[in-house]
Amino acid sequence: MNLVIFGPPGAGKGTQSAKLVKEFNLFQLSTGDLLRDEVSKKTDFGNKIEEIMKSGGLVSDEIINNLIENKISNSQYKNRIIFDGFPRNLEQARSLDNLLKKYNQQMSLALNLKVDNQILIKRITGRVTCSICNKTFNTFFDPPKKCDLKNCDQKNLVTRSDDNEETIAKRLKTYDEKTFPVLDYYLKKGIMKNIDGMQEINAISDQLFTLIRAIRG
Ligand code: ADP
Ligand code: ADP
Repeated sequence: MNLVIFGPPGAGKGTQSAKLVKEFNLFQLSTGDLLRDEVSKKTDFGNKIEEIMKSGGLVSDEIINNLIENKISNSQYKNRIIFDGFPRNLEQARSLDNLLKKYNQQMSLALNLKVDNQILIKRITGRVTCSICNKTFNTFFDPPKKCDLKNCDQKNLVTRSDDNEETIAKRLKTYDEKTFPVLDYYLKKGIMKNIDGMQEINAISDQLFTLIRAIRG
Protein backbone atom coordinates (compact mmCIF):
# COMPACT_ATOMS: atom_id res chain seq x y z
CA MET A 1 0.00 0.00 0.00
CA ASN A 2 1.34 3.42 -1.02
CA LEU A 3 -0.07 6.57 0.53
CA VAL A 4 0.42 10.30 0.39
CA ILE A 5 0.28 12.67 3.35
CA PHE A 6 -0.74 16.26 2.63
CA GLY A 7 -0.89 19.46 4.58
CA PRO A 8 0.68 22.92 4.57
CA PRO A 9 4.18 23.50 6.00
CA GLY A 10 4.13 22.62 9.71
CA ALA A 11 0.91 20.57 9.54
CA GLY A 12 2.61 17.53 11.06
CA LYS A 13 3.33 15.44 7.95
CA GLY A 14 6.80 14.38 9.07
CA THR A 15 5.70 13.73 12.65
CA GLN A 16 2.82 11.50 11.56
CA SER A 17 4.82 9.78 8.81
CA ALA A 18 7.36 8.64 11.40
CA LYS A 19 4.54 7.05 13.42
CA LEU A 20 3.06 5.33 10.36
CA VAL A 21 6.47 3.97 9.41
CA LYS A 22 6.73 2.31 12.82
CA GLU A 23 3.18 1.00 12.96
CA PHE A 24 2.93 -0.38 9.42
CA ASN A 25 6.56 -0.95 8.40
CA LEU A 26 6.35 1.64 5.65
CA PHE A 27 9.08 3.67 3.98
CA GLN A 28 8.93 7.47 4.40
CA LEU A 29 9.83 9.30 1.24
CA SER A 30 10.21 12.95 2.21
CA THR A 31 11.30 15.11 -0.71
CA GLY A 32 12.28 17.85 1.79
CA ASP A 33 14.65 15.44 3.57
CA LEU A 34 16.12 14.23 0.26
CA LEU A 35 16.73 17.84 -0.78
CA ARG A 36 18.33 18.69 2.58
CA ASP A 37 20.69 15.71 2.07
CA GLU A 38 21.76 17.25 -1.25
CA VAL A 39 22.21 20.67 0.38
CA SER A 40 24.43 19.20 3.10
CA LYS A 41 26.89 17.97 0.43
CA LYS A 42 27.73 21.64 -0.35
CA THR A 43 28.06 20.94 -4.08
CA ASP A 44 27.04 23.53 -6.73
CA PHE A 45 23.85 21.52 -7.21
CA GLY A 46 23.20 21.52 -3.45
CA ASN A 47 23.84 25.25 -3.17
CA LYS A 48 21.32 25.98 -5.93
CA ILE A 49 18.71 23.88 -4.17
CA GLU A 50 19.41 25.68 -0.89
CA GLU A 51 18.73 29.05 -2.49
CA ILE A 52 15.35 27.91 -3.78
CA MET A 53 14.40 26.39 -0.43
CA LYS A 54 15.37 29.60 1.37
CA SER A 55 13.19 31.59 -1.03
CA GLY A 56 10.13 29.53 -0.10
CA GLY A 57 9.54 28.46 -3.72
CA LEU A 58 9.52 24.99 -5.25
CA VAL A 59 12.52 23.11 -6.60
CA SER A 60 12.10 22.12 -10.28
CA ASP A 61 9.86 19.18 -11.13
CA GLU A 62 12.71 17.55 -13.04
CA ILE A 63 14.96 17.38 -9.98
CA ILE A 64 12.13 16.12 -7.80
CA ASN A 65 10.97 13.48 -10.28
CA ASN A 66 14.49 12.07 -10.53
CA LEU A 67 14.74 11.79 -6.75
CA ILE A 68 11.35 10.10 -6.62
CA GLU A 69 11.95 7.63 -9.45
CA ASN A 70 15.12 6.53 -7.73
CA LYS A 71 13.04 5.32 -4.77
CA ILE A 72 9.92 4.06 -6.57
CA SER A 73 12.07 1.89 -8.81
CA ASN A 74 13.70 0.23 -5.79
CA SER A 75 11.92 -3.11 -5.24
CA GLN A 76 12.72 -2.92 -1.52
CA TYR A 77 10.15 -0.13 -1.15
CA LYS A 78 7.54 -1.53 -3.53
CA ASN A 79 3.99 -0.73 -2.38
CA ARG A 80 5.08 0.50 1.05
CA ILE A 81 5.86 4.18 0.48
CA ILE A 82 4.48 7.21 2.34
CA PHE A 83 4.97 10.23 0.12
CA ASP A 84 5.61 13.19 2.45
CA GLY A 85 5.86 16.65 0.87
CA PHE A 86 5.21 15.31 -2.64
CA PRO A 87 3.37 15.82 -4.96
CA ARG A 88 3.42 19.60 -4.47
CA ASN A 89 1.82 20.67 -7.73
CA LEU A 90 -0.42 19.12 -10.38
CA GLU A 91 2.48 18.35 -12.68
CA GLN A 92 4.14 16.29 -9.92
CA ALA A 93 0.84 14.50 -9.19
CA ARG A 94 0.58 13.44 -12.84
CA SER A 95 4.24 12.36 -12.95
CA LEU A 96 3.71 10.30 -9.82
CA ASP A 97 0.79 8.46 -11.43
CA ASN A 98 2.95 7.70 -14.47
CA LEU A 99 5.83 6.44 -12.32
CA LEU A 100 3.54 4.23 -10.22
CA LYS A 101 2.13 2.74 -13.43
CA LYS A 102 5.62 2.21 -14.85
CA TYR A 103 6.66 0.24 -11.74
CA ASN A 104 3.33 -1.59 -11.44
CA GLN A 105 2.14 0.07 -8.26
CA GLN A 106 -0.79 2.20 -7.14
CA MET A 107 -1.81 4.89 -4.68
CA SER A 108 -4.28 3.65 -2.06
CA LEU A 109 -4.92 6.64 0.18
CA ALA A 110 -4.36 10.40 0.42
CA LEU A 111 -4.42 11.83 3.97
CA ASN A 112 -4.93 15.58 4.38
CA LEU A 113 -3.97 17.25 7.69
CA LYS A 114 -5.98 20.46 8.15
CA VAL A 115 -4.43 23.13 10.40
CA ASP A 116 -5.15 26.89 10.73
CA ASN A 117 -2.41 29.30 9.59
CA GLN A 118 -1.88 30.88 13.03
CA ILE A 119 -1.06 27.49 14.53
CA LEU A 120 1.14 26.59 11.56
CA ILE A 121 3.34 29.63 12.17
CA LYS A 122 3.85 28.66 15.80
CA ARG A 123 4.56 25.05 14.86
CA ILE A 124 7.16 26.08 12.31
CA THR A 125 8.90 28.72 14.41
CA GLY A 126 9.07 26.24 17.32
CA ARG A 127 10.31 23.29 15.23
CA VAL A 128 13.69 21.81 16.20
CA THR A 129 15.19 18.58 14.88
CA CYS A 130 17.86 16.35 16.36
CA SER A 131 20.76 16.27 13.92
CA ILE A 132 21.73 12.79 15.15
CA CYS A 133 18.46 10.80 15.11
CA ASN A 134 16.42 13.22 12.92
CA LYS A 135 13.48 13.27 15.36
CA THR A 136 11.46 16.49 15.33
CA PHE A 137 10.29 18.30 18.47
CA ASN A 138 8.57 21.62 19.17
CA THR A 139 9.67 24.19 21.71
CA PHE A 140 6.01 25.25 22.29
CA PHE A 141 4.04 22.01 21.88
CA ASP A 142 6.34 19.00 22.13
CA PRO A 143 9.45 19.90 24.12
CA PRO A 144 12.62 17.97 23.28
CA LYS A 145 13.32 14.85 25.32
CA LYS A 146 16.38 12.71 25.57
CA CYS A 147 16.29 10.15 22.78
CA ASP A 148 16.65 6.55 24.02
CA LEU A 149 17.52 5.08 20.68
CA LYS A 150 20.80 6.78 19.96
CA ASN A 151 21.27 8.45 23.32
CA CYS A 152 21.30 11.89 21.71
CA ASP A 153 20.98 14.88 23.96
CA GLN A 154 19.68 18.39 23.44
CA LYS A 155 23.01 19.79 22.25
CA ASN A 156 22.26 18.42 18.80
CA LEU A 157 19.00 20.22 18.13
CA VAL A 158 18.93 22.34 14.99
CA THR A 159 16.47 24.80 13.46
CA ARG A 160 15.97 24.59 9.70
CA SER A 161 17.26 27.66 7.86
CA ASP A 162 13.90 28.08 6.07
CA ASP A 163 11.91 28.03 9.35
CA ASN A 164 11.97 31.82 9.81
CA GLU A 165 8.94 34.12 9.65
CA GLU A 166 9.82 35.70 6.31
CA THR A 167 10.26 32.40 4.45
CA ILE A 168 7.23 30.88 6.18
CA ALA A 169 4.92 33.51 4.67
CA LYS A 170 6.26 32.65 1.21
CA ARG A 171 5.97 28.90 1.80
CA LEU A 172 2.34 29.28 2.87
CA LYS A 173 1.64 31.32 -0.28
CA THR A 174 3.34 28.69 -2.46
CA TYR A 175 1.20 26.04 -0.75
CA ASP A 176 -2.04 27.92 -1.48
CA GLU A 177 -1.15 28.59 -5.10
CA LYS A 178 0.58 25.39 -6.18
CA THR A 179 -0.16 22.56 -3.74
CA PHE A 180 -3.75 23.17 -2.65
CA PRO A 181 -5.13 22.31 -6.13
CA VAL A 182 -3.56 18.84 -5.82
CA LEU A 183 -6.15 17.99 -3.13
CA ASP A 184 -8.87 18.15 -5.75
CA TYR A 185 -6.89 15.77 -7.96
CA TYR A 186 -7.00 13.08 -5.24
CA LEU A 187 -10.57 13.97 -4.23
CA LYS A 188 -11.65 13.13 -7.77
CA LYS A 189 -9.90 9.76 -7.51
CA GLY A 190 -12.03 9.05 -4.41
CA ILE A 191 -9.08 8.28 -2.10
CA MET A 192 -8.85 11.54 -0.12
CA LYS A 193 -9.48 11.64 3.65
CA ASN A 194 -9.45 14.89 5.67
CA ILE A 195 -8.15 14.84 9.25
CA ASP A 196 -8.30 17.55 11.91
CA GLY A 197 -4.58 18.25 12.31
CA MET A 198 -5.13 20.59 15.29
CA GLN A 199 -5.53 17.70 17.71
CA GLU A 200 -2.73 16.24 19.82
CA ILE A 201 -0.11 14.21 18.01
CA ASN A 202 -1.27 10.82 19.32
CA ALA A 203 -4.97 11.55 18.75
CA ILE A 204 -4.17 12.23 15.09
CA SER A 205 -2.09 9.07 14.73
CA ASP A 206 -4.92 6.98 16.18
CA GLN A 207 -7.25 8.30 13.49
CA LEU A 208 -4.69 7.67 10.77
CA PHE A 209 -4.11 4.10 12.00
CA THR A 210 -7.86 3.43 11.83
CA LEU A 211 -8.13 4.82 8.29
CA ILE A 212 -5.21 2.73 7.11
CA ARG A 213 -6.40 -0.47 8.79
CA ALA A 214 -9.77 -0.03 7.10
CA ILE A 215 -8.03 -0.09 3.73
CA ARG A 216 -5.54 -2.86 4.45
CA GLY A 217 -8.30 -5.06 5.89
P1 ADP B 1 5.55 19.14 8.40
O1 ADP B 1 6.35 17.91 8.06
O2 ADP B 1 4.11 19.05 7.93
O3 ADP B 1 6.19 20.42 7.95
P2 ADP B 1 6.28 18.53 11.19
O4 ADP B 1 5.83 17.12 11.36
O5 ADP B 1 7.73 18.79 11.03
O6 ADP B 1 5.43 19.23 9.98
O7 ADP B 1 5.70 19.37 12.42
C1 ADP B 1 5.94 20.77 12.54
C2 ADP B 1 6.19 21.10 13.99
O8 ADP B 1 4.97 20.98 14.74
C3 ADP B 1 7.20 20.20 14.70
O9 ADP B 1 7.93 21.00 15.61
C4 ADP B 1 6.34 19.17 15.44
O10 ADP B 1 6.97 18.72 16.65
C5 ADP B 1 5.09 19.99 15.77
N1 ADP B 1 3.84 19.21 15.70
C6 ADP B 1 3.51 18.26 14.80
N2 ADP B 1 2.26 17.79 15.02
C7 ADP B 1 1.78 18.48 16.09
C8 ADP B 1 0.53 18.46 16.81
N3 ADP B 1 -0.46 17.64 16.46
N4 ADP B 1 0.38 19.29 17.85
C9 ADP B 1 1.40 20.15 18.21
N5 ADP B 1 2.59 20.22 17.59
C10 ADP B 1 2.79 19.39 16.53
P1 ADP C 1 7.44 21.78 4.83
O1 ADP C 1 6.39 20.75 4.58
O2 ADP C 1 7.62 22.11 6.26
O3 ADP C 1 7.27 22.99 3.95
P2 ADP C 1 9.54 20.27 3.37
O4 ADP C 1 10.69 19.70 4.10
O5 ADP C 1 8.54 19.33 2.77
O6 ADP C 1 8.87 21.27 4.41
O7 ADP C 1 10.04 21.23 2.20
C1 ADP C 1 11.01 22.23 2.39
C2 ADP C 1 11.29 22.92 1.07
O8 ADP C 1 11.85 21.98 0.13
C3 ADP C 1 10.06 23.48 0.34
O9 ADP C 1 9.73 24.79 0.79
C4 ADP C 1 10.52 23.48 -1.12
O10 ADP C 1 11.40 24.57 -1.40
C5 ADP C 1 11.36 22.21 -1.19
N1 ADP C 1 10.56 21.02 -1.59
C6 ADP C 1 10.23 19.95 -0.80
N2 ADP C 1 9.50 19.06 -1.49
C7 ADP C 1 9.33 19.56 -2.74
C8 ADP C 1 8.66 19.13 -3.89
N3 ADP C 1 7.97 17.98 -3.93
N4 ADP C 1 8.72 19.93 -5.00
C9 ADP C 1 9.40 21.09 -5.01
N5 ADP C 1 10.06 21.57 -3.94
C10 ADP C 1 10.02 20.82 -2.81
